[in-house]
Amino acid sequence: MTEPDHVMVRIRERGHGYAAIVWCKCGHSEGGFDRAKVVAQLYKHTIDANRPACPTPKKSQYGSEQEALNALSKFLQRARPGARPTRTYKCPSGRHWHTTSQPASKVA
Ligand SMILES: [Zn+2]
Ligand SMILES: [Zn+2]
Repeated sequence: MTEPDHVMVRIRERGHGYAAIVWCKCGHSEGGFDRAKVVAQLYKHTIDANRPACPTPKKSQYGSEQEALNALSKFLQRARPGARPTRTYKCPSGRHWHTTSQPASKVA
């Protein structure tokens, strides 16, 4: 098993617990006035960072399924022959949504 690249490696509390800064092994840091929140933010970073990278970064990315569906309905109004996106799927990176004209079974 390999060591994770994103783990909380350091925490520093300043003042009388007013502010806290935490560091990830990759150098990413989170700071704030609520230690629990700061730790939670760093934890979120480690979750995001450990997700696979987007395999299709050149494709349009939508922040939510609804945005992707809105984009689909725009395509439907296009009176041009040829393939067009027919469905939405969540990116394997887990960070956004894409549209595709491929049948569901062809997209991992
Ligand atoms: Zn990191
Ligand atoms: Zn993606």
